[in-house]
Amino acid sequence: MNLLDKLDAAATARKALLPDGVGAFGIPIEEIYSSTEARIGERRILLLGTNNYLGLSFAPECLQAAHEAIDKEGTGTTGSRMANGSYLGHRALEQEFADFYQCHASIVFTTGYQANLGTISGLVGPGDVVLIDSDSHASIYDGCTLSGADIIRFRHNDATDLEKRLRRLGERAQNTLIITEGIYSMLGDQAPLADIVDIKKQYNSILLLDEAHSLGVLGDTGQGLVEKTGLINEVDFITGTFSKSLCSIGGFCVSNHPQLDQLRYISHPYIFTASPSPSTIASTRAALKLLRNGKHLRRQLWNNAEQLYTKLSKTGYQLGPEPGPIIAATVNSPQGALALWNGLLEHNIYVNLILPPAAPENKSLVRCSINAAHTPEQISYVGQVFAKLYNSILE
Ligand code: PMP
Repeated sequence: MNLLDKLDAAATARKALLPDGVGAFGIPIEEIYSSTEARIGERRILLLGTNNYLGLSFAPECLQAAHEAIDKEGTGTTGSRMANGSYLGHRALEQEFADFYQCHASIVFTTGYQANLGTISGLVGPGDVVLIDSDSHASIYDGCTLSGADIIRFRHNDATDLEKRLRRLGERAQNTLIITEGIYSMLGDQAPLADIVDIKKQYNSILLLDEAHSLGVLGDTGQGLVEKTGLINEVDFITGTFSKSLCSIGGFCVSNHPQLDQLRYISHPYIFTASPSPSTIASTRAALKLLRNGKHLRRQLWNNAEQLYTKLSKTGYQLGPEPGPIIAATVNSPQGALALWNGLLEHNIYVNLILPPAAPENKSLVRCSINAAHTPEQISYVGQVFAKLYNSILE
């Protein structure tokens, strides 16, 4: 099979799951009205498939900061910080992340994907080991592959399995990077961080926590799972993204280890790519302030999440183990998931359709993400539509 034949075979396999003309992937959202509503074709739809957890994508402070930065600094940095120099805004944001986490320092990356690639491939290399949760995000898997380290997976959120695998490593445990996530992006469940910290200390390993989906969502000031659990000083490196609660694009790594700075000199995903545009940095800085002071947003977000989770589980949907801003219904077949997704769209609700192999254990998921700007009435409407479709499509 030549290279192009392989792509044709992949296309055939994809079309078997999702016939041409079914617009679940890459559906054009033609107008965005707010952080909760948009237009697709003739429909005014309710957005429940974003990661805009605090609903800040139209926050006036962020819009104004972005406008001002474009006017003053232009549309792009046109290069990497290593080669072209650092703008003051990039440095200021790094300081603000370090202050936010009360950590020694932070590094800003161009995306959250690159934050994981750059941090992981900077920390471990051939001969080292990465021990990762089996449900890890692709950026974690790709960072591990890029590093050349030996990759070992432990069962999802299973600290006992992690411990068993570390024990087997013997001396190598101290050259091991353990990686976990604050909230998992598919089923919305949280890592058993206290257990994982105990084990990493026992074996003298290093722990990296990706707070992509928990930043802004968990903890009093929104630091994430580290704040909710009070374990900030036990986690060695925290990565995260600007593309969810902060409503822009970019990523970061914070740490108390002074060695963090060395990543700037060795990490290709930091060095060989352009730095985020000035407007991105400016809106992120404004959003980080709103996030820190956003207790009321988190309260609203959790009220919404609990309202929908309760309604869907009472209806009979099979959900992740705990309520949260990510609420995903597992459906028995890709066809069932597609029918449910289409049914929701016909009722003007846009959610995420996740088909094999993207979800854990090859599941088919219809995934909602809730945000602080959804009103209780909107959430109630979504619950009613899910209930109606359960009876008509899934029963
Ligand atoms: N980590 C996790 C857990 C994610 O879910 C994502 C994005 N979905 C990323 C990292 C990458 O973030 P970004 O979109 O900024 O590249």
